This record gives sequence, C-alpha cells and structure tokens, in this order.
Amino acid sequence: MTKKAVVDLDNSRVEEQRQVMRKIVATGKCPFCLVNFVEHQTEETLFDGKYWLLTYNRWPYKNTKVHLLAIYKEHAEHLTEVDPEAGRELIEVFQWASKHFNVPGGGFVMRFGDTNYSAGSVHHLHAQFIQPDIDAEGYEPVRVKVGKSR
Ligand SMILES: [Zn+2]
Repeated sequence: MTKKAVVDLDNSRVEEQRQVMRKIVATGKCPFCLVNFVEHQTEETLFDGKYWLLTYNRWPYKNTKVHLLAIYKEHAEHLTEVDPEAGRELIEVFQWASKHFNVPGGGFVMRFGDTNYSAGSVHHLHAQFIQPDIDAEGYEPVRVKVGKSR
C-alpha cells in the first residue's frame, strides 16, 4: 500500500524548504501535526489557542513584511473536517496578530484539500496571514497561488 503524502514537493518554493520537506517525506510524518511540528519548530509560537497555533512562516513570501502561519491543531486536510468554531478563533488569532504587529492592512488565505487544486505544500490545514511590504526596494504585490502549475 502506498503511504499517503504529507507534503507536495511540486508546490515548494525555495531550495532549503525542498530539503526540509524531503526529510519529512522520508519520515512519512505530517510536519504540521503538533508532535512533529514542535520537534522541528525554529520559530516562536505567537498564539496558542484551542484550535490554532500561530507562528512565523519559516519561508515568508517575497515582498511580505509580516507573514504568519496559523496551523490547525488537529490533523485535517479539507475544509469540511474543521470545527466551525475554529473559524471564530481564527478571526481572533488574526485580530491579535493585526494588533501585535500593528498591521495597517493585508490579507489572509487558507487553501485546502487536494494540493493539485490548492497548490498547498503541506496537506495539513493552515492559514496564512500577510502584510505586504509596500515600501521594500523592488516591491511587487504579493500573489498567492491557488491551483498547481502545469
Ligand atoms: Zn497533520
């Protein structure tokens, strides 16, 4: 029987990320399930809620001033597996982040399910919180991809 994939290397963006992800693939463990995540975590936990753990994105997108990850604390891959109460907490988590980082504006996004459609790199459900760095040298708008490149 084939093991179910925990990450999608096609959707990784930088070489260091690919290397870390290859190691994770080798273990077959989900990198965002808490027990595994804490083992490899290098960034501080910013908010530890009932449903979500908020931390920095280790590989922030280009042109971001703030790029955070809210990771669902139980293994879930599809939106339909999430407790709707978690939606309420996610707003609270991102409100906290907005205040903490003094964010004048930005966006948040959550992709889900089949990574061919979502273009996510890790199957375990997570949401991204982004403030673009509009004053950065060579700034370009932050674009989030939904759907795998062919
Ligand atoms: Zn997981």
